[in-house]
Amino acid sequence: MSASLAQSFDSSRLSFTLEQGRFGEHVFAHVLLCLPCRVLTGYFMKKPPLIWLNVILFTVTFLLAVLVTPWYGFSHGLSAGLWWAMLATVLFAGLSITAGYHRLWSHRAYDAHPIVRVLWMIGGTLALQNSILHWASDHREHHKHVDHDDHDPYSASRGFWFSHIGWMLRHYQANRYHDYGNVKDLQKDPIVMFQHRYYLPLVLVLNFGWPLLIGWLLNDVVGALLLVGVVRIVINHHTTFFINSLAHIWGGQPYTDRNSARDNGFLALLTYGEGYHNYHHIFSNDYRNGIRWWQFDPTKWLIRACSWLGLASNLKRCSGYQIEKAKLTMQFKRYQARYEAKQPTTSQVVLERLQHDYEQVLQKLKAYYQARKVLLDSKTARLRDHVHADIDQLKHQAQELRSAFQLHRKRWRAALAEQLA
Ligand SMILES: [Zn+2]
Ligand SMILES: [Zn+2]
Repeated sequence: MSASLAQSFDSSRLSFTLEQGRFGEHVFAHVLLCLPCRVLTGYFMKKPPLIWLNVILFTVTFLLAVLVTPWYGFSHGLSAGLWWAMLATVLFAGLSITAGYHRLWSHRAYDAHPIVRVLWMIGGTLALQNSILHWASDHREHHKHVDHDDHDPYSASRGFWFSHIGWMLRHYQANRYHDYGNVKDLQKDPIVMFQHRYYLPLVLVLNFGWPLLIGWLLNDVVGALLLVGVVRIVINHHTTFFINSLAHIWGGQPYTDRNSARDNGFLALLTYGEGYHNYHHIFSNDYRNGIRWWQFDPTKWLIRACSWLGLASNLKRCSGYQIEKAKLTMQFKRYQARYEAKQPTTSQVVLERLQHDYEQVLQKLKAYYQARKVLLDSKTARLRDHVHADIDQLKHQAQELRSAFQLHRKRWRAALAEQLA
């Protein structure tokens, strides 16, 4: 490939178009700029040196999954048992990444019993996404420097390809590769350090041993190596990678627009609940990503189930007041932008009045959550210390304050809509 041809395939320019939120183009460019093209392009564009192990690993597993496995399936057949084993392994490894690597170790959103930590360590090793220590270190950098081209390891502002997989193909941040200063707390966890020390042998034993065992039990070793080994790894890889790429491109921003993270219910289906990424980036210590009961977040359900069994504790939740406040603030910000765009000369008087109404709504919200806290504390005290408290009266008070908040919010939203009409 000549240098001029390489120029016409300038990946950073195409990546820029990907950022604009045109999903069709993402897929097109993704397919067009296949891995070998990216590799050759990078060679001519003088990018950092390739990490050949990763390039080969991602290319070979992907080709085996999309070409060799279907051929094997059509020519030899793949039993239902193998499909079930693959599905179970996908779920185990995927949830070990989301509940373990991500919410437990990267964010300390809860504490887990050693049995659970060992399970997440085994599943995470099967998912083949580097050691817990390394993964968590990268992820904490991602949250700290989100969207910063040089400091966020998988910055979405560098485009879909880079944030999805490109960041792992070259030595982009070689200077901090072995700097684990931001995960000193994790270095006290013997399970984390055991896995970090023996990562390669663990990867080989688990990723070959488990499919070989399934294959031996189901009498189809090649089928198991392909389906439970390779296809499963490719699924585990790309579902996690979607959180770094698509969850920063596609979806809404109900809580903050200070970074590119998005909430996307469809992505949550593919990522064990991690699709509520806009919420996650503002309230990252919360063990939940989908905070409503109807939002699909199996990682949250799993952590809660572990706590019922006494295997998880100290589950952290952000306060309802902070969450509601973030949403109202975003709504008001959006309103102001639309109003300023609509009015040739923005009426300062109108904006000040709506700002005043907004602050009133926040005050009502705060009063409601304070009353709710008093109610919950009183319930706990009555149960624990047999202290007398008029729970019915406190409950009534909280309900009244809630209604007052909802009424103010309704009026405020109606006033906003009226100004925009
Ligand atoms: Zn993110
Ligand atoms: Zn995170």
